[in-house]
Amino acid sequence: MQEANEKIKVTRTTASRLAEVDFEHLVFGKKYADHMLVADFDGKEWKNAEILPFGNFSVSPSNAAWHYGQAIFEGIKAYKDPQGNPMIFRPYDNYARFLTSAERMGMPAIPEWLFIGGLAKLVDIDRDWVPTGEGCSLYLRPFMIAADEFIGVRPSETYKFAVINSPSGPYFNKPIHLLVQDKYIRAFPGGVGFAKAAGNYGGTMYPTMQARKQGYDQILWVDGYEHKYLQECGTMNVFAIIGNTAITPDLSQGTILAGVTRASVIDLLSDMGLAVEERPISIDEIIDAHKAGTLREVFGTGTASSVAYVEQLDYKETKIHLDTTKYAVGAEVIKRLDAIRTGRAEDTRGWNYKI
Ligand code: PMP
Repeated sequence: MQEANEKIKVTRTTASRLAEVDFEHLVFGKKYADHMLVADFDGKEWKNAEILPFGNFSVSPSNAAWHYGQAIFEGIKAYKDPQGNPMIFRPYDNYARFLTSAERMGMPAIPEWLFIGGLAKLVDIDRDWVPTGEGCSLYLRPFMIAADEFIGVRPSETYKFAVINSPSGPYFNKPIHLLVQDKYIRAFPGGVGFAKAAGNYGGTMYPTMQARKQGYDQILWVDGYEHKYLQECGTMNVFAIIGNTAITPDLSQGTILAGVTRASVIDLLSDMGLAVEERPISIDEIIDAHKAGTLREVFGTGTASSVAYVEQLDYKETKIHLDTTKYAVGAEVIKRLDAIRTGRAEDTRGWNYKI
């Protein structure tokens, strides 16, 4: 991208840390690639765009983001095709979601040269950090924070945008145990549930800690009014396979993050001949289907986890155990998704952005 090349300064590291990384035993989110991208919004335009060695920021204690939470982020993965060429999976979808999040949080838009062009340039420079092992990828974390040094409550005028990269290993698809609880609610209509805003995650920590103490992996969030319509599980979108139909909650209330994996899985399920319904689905419907023997699978979808199977789903006195040895639909979806992302299957929908 010509504009990115003109506007993004590059300062390469003189001391690569690549040799320090054990690519056989990658842990999610612990190691960062040699370079990062940073840029500043001065109230009018984005400037100082630079790819430089990964390192600390110096930030004032009065930085507005720390006090009032104008902070948004994205999660994207880069893979290598069989010839070793890096590819980013659906970055334009994450870019669109980033713009949506920015608008809702009163933050400035990011131009395409900076977001897409910046990601492409960064992955190109850090291409040796894109792992090739089974289930491995380079996790890209673009984020934007308020930058004003001012503790009055008002939208910040200045912002910082940055992208860091973390080589990540396979997510072990251990089936998960979910607690459906109606005490804590993740998002309400009119709120910020559809945005990838930092505060959405902060609010889930305490309820999730409580659920973990009871032996669950994640919470299956329900809606805030009737406390029965499924929303998301942990930080994943949720699908139920009932008979030959895949059902996932629709996005119309603005309480659910529109997952890029969710969108991909909807297309792949259709390819596999399943009927896919995006509509409200209640916990009662899940329980009834289980009683009738038609509930085949429940799984979560997300960039970090791909597809996570649900083995146990507990709601008040009802305990639903799903026999994970019978799972076939989720397993097939993940197989197809992985094949496309790693260039082993034809990318008919143009999901891969080649570097
Ligand atoms: N819901 C929430 C709350 C999330 O944080 C994520 C992860 N980004 C998802 C769903 C799944 O989205 P995606 O498939 O784009 O990773």
